[in-house]
Amino acid sequence: MILDGKLVAQKVLEEVRAGVARVKDRSGVVPTLAVVLVGDFAPSRVYVANKKRAADTVGIASQDHLHPEGLDREALLALLRRLNADPRVHGILLQLPLPAGLDEDEAIAAIAAEKDADGLHPVNLGRLLAGAPTVVPCTPAGCLELLDHYGCDLKGAEAVVIGRSRLVGKPLAQLLLARHATVTMCHTRTRDLAAHTRRADVLCVAAGRPRTVTGDMVKEGAWVIDVGINRLETGKLVGDVEFASVAARARAITPVPGGVGPMTIAMLLRNTLRAAERQLGMA
Ligand code: NAD
Repeated sequence: MILDGKLVAQKVLEEVRAGVARVKDRSGVVPTLAVVLVGDFAPSRVYVANKKRAADTVGIASQDHLHPEGLDREALLALLRRLNADPRVHGILLQLPLPAGLDEDEAIAAIAAEKDADGLHPVNLGRLLAGAPTVVPCTPAGCLELLDHYGCDLKGAEAVVIGRSRLVGKPLAQLLLARHATVTMCHTRTRDLAAHTRRADVLCVAAGRPRTVTGDMVKEGAWVIDVGINRLETGKLVGDVEFASVAARARAITPVPGGVGPMTIAMLLRNTLRAAERQLGMA
């Protein structure tokens, strides 16, 4: 079975569109996402353009703060403070990575936690760890949404996550744990990766390297979520999972593109809507 991220993202976007219309109706306010892009990293430009287009389709306004020429530390922090204080802005998206010389931790922490559309602020990550209501990081939230949509039962499942980044691996492991999976986290220092992946009922791969997982590393009947996005020299986009050999063994698998990617954007817009609802006293 293919876990169709485009399809499930459309469903989420429909819900967000209805929610945005409700907010506009009741308060006259248009939920607004401030988009901050510093530097001219080409993939970031593409991601930002996709996010803005999707925001537009659900009626969320985006406010552009694009600085291809770069920004120094003080100017970036001043911009974020201005957006924090601006009642017209409900969510702030700081596109990562920041150019060398800017401190990502400092910049993320400078965003008001209630406007953190990406769920990466330390307060929101801390709340995730504590099991409190929070803004969940978009990509891990999208993975869970996909698994839920297709009826994957996580309770008691052996879940293996490859990758331990703040953006994907760590929060994803927390979400799986909160859903009562038995979670193993693997990373570059893991001694025998295949020994772990072969036990997985649910295998989530966020390593950023093509063919990190091949068919021989996957248990028959596993659910496989491929978070990776890698561009080969040929220009082709592939995930971290060797699709054909893994699909032959897996019960369910996400394609790349068309799997986790569209879900990430849908979750960003859901987070923005929820932030607007909270700020307007509607949640
Ligand atoms: P990262 O580079 O910050 O982290 C990669 C992690 O994978 C590290 O923790 C590292 O220890 C681990 N790792 C790398 N190679 C490994 C190996 N051979 N064996 C075991 N562990 C290994 O990357 P990230 O930000 O977490 O992103 C991971 C991938 O997901 C990238 O390809 C990125 O482009 C993609 N991504 C996709 C989306 C989406 O919307 N689909 C969103 C975010 C990231």
